[in-house]
Amino acid sequence: MKKKNLGLNTICTHVGETPDEQFKGAISPIYLSSSYEYMDVDVKRYPRYFNTPNQEYLSKKIAALENAEAGMIFGSGMAAISTTLLAFLKSGDHVVVQKDIYGGTRNLLEEHFNNYRIEYSFTDDLNIEDFEKLVQHNTKMIYIETPSNPLLKIVDMEAIASLAKERGLITAIDNTFASPVIQNPIDFGIDIVLHSATKYLGGHSDICAGAVVSSQEHMDTIWNIAKNLGGSLSDFTVWMLERSMKTLGIRVKRQQRNARRLSEYLDVHEAIKVVHYPGLRSHPNHELAKKQMKGYGAMMSFELHDSINPQEFLNTLQLIKPSMSLAGVESTMLQPSETSHALLSEQDRAEQGIGDNLIRFSVGIESRNDLIMDIDQALAAVMNTESLVNN
Ligand SMILES: *Cc1c(COP(=O)(O)O)cnc(C)c1O
Repeated sequence: MKKKNLGLNTICTHVGETPDEQFKGAISPIYLSSSYEYMDVDVKRYPRYFNTPNQEYLSKKIAALENAEAGMIFGSGMAAISTTLLAFLKSGDHVVVQKDIYGGTRNLLEEHFNNYRIEYSFTDDLNIEDFEKLVQHNTKMIYIETPSNPLLKIVDMEAIASLAKERGLITAIDNTFASPVIQNPIDFGIDIVLHSATKYLGGHSDICAGAVVSSQEHMDTIWNIAKNLGGSLSDFTVWMLERSMKTLGIRVKRQQRNARRLSEYLDVHEAIKVVHYPGLRSHPNHELAKKQMKGYGAMMSFELHDSINPQEFLNTLQLIKPSMSLAGVESTMLQPSETSHALLSEQDRAEQGIGDNLIRFSVGIESRNDLIMDIDQALAAVMNTESLVNN
């Protein structure tokens, strides 16, 4: 069977299975060996070489989902991101970075890149001109993340890829928020795709992992430093990730359907000022999202009416958990100003449009009506009806 012709759910279920040659079992066996024979073998295997059987095979599934030639699995999303950046950026190089990227990635740049004499510039906004004007003589890479966290802004991947080709730059994207079900950046000319597999690929809020996929040539460059930095994932967790990914397609599609419905519900609710979801026609990048995403994903954020205390609202929810992280089968909400963006100054947050009343919503697979009823009862309980009328 040629992988190219397989459908999404067949890839999720079958591509990259570790063959059970011995007993022909239905699922992949776990090979926990950290020591392999080295004589008369094609590959010298070792966990930190990213080539144990489970690692090698599962990376084929993630590569197939992203239409990439090859991939590698890491111990965390940040291990994949840091290894990839250090594989392509050397002392004296420069990288153009989208503003609003994941906090951990931002910290990596701001806390360590000066020590390595790697220069970086954050864009002012997410239009192509914002990226173009920052490209300088020593720029090597453009790094993006779309949809962005927490305002779900969209970057034009095709425009970024064509700018990069013109200037001979490498492009990398953190595709965590969309997942490979919703968005395949390589189809738009992006070179390297990164995932925090802790999120949608894992999907059950019980494993920490990362992945990167690209051309074989770029993966060789990444492997060269990865084996020295040592961010490999234990084979037991690789196996758990494979188990999780069998349902990736059906999970994310269900989450997305829920998200669409919930975005419409929130959009017309009197206690909600604005909903940031690329699937809404009112979203400023709706047309762009339509062009480059398959659906609009299952992440959104919304702003509560000023009269509502956001923490009180979160505490009044009964089904939806106020909790960190995202993309699990369970719905979760958080207040970015108190969590993911707590380290920014109030002024920085205000400039980025991240007020205290902003709530990020990771929509799960639950029954839609139960989610709506939960939000409904929480809003009813915390809403100051008089002030709504007066405003
Ligand atoms: C969580 C996350 C990461 C980091 O992943 P870890 O697995 O926690 O290291 C990177 N990018 C995005 C967009 C994330 O949400």
